[in-house]
Amino acid sequence: MEKFACKHLGMDCDFVATGATREEVMDKAMAHGSTVHADMMKDMTEAQMAEFAQKLEASIQPI
Ligand SMILES: [Zn+2]
Repeated sequence: MEKFACKHLGMDCDFVATGATREEVMDKAMAHGSTVHADMMKDMTEAQMAEFAQKLEASIQPI
């Protein structure tokens, strides 16, 4: 299992995503981000978004 927590990115948010694969966790985290953190993400450029996605993926940890 893999796990992502918004807190790992320094967010004041209790969201945690788990999944069998990193891809599954990444999907859940991006879906969460684009709804709950839409305000933060809407102002990002494509480059910032790519960097954010990279950070997000790097913060996914095996559990
Ligand atoms: Zn969150």
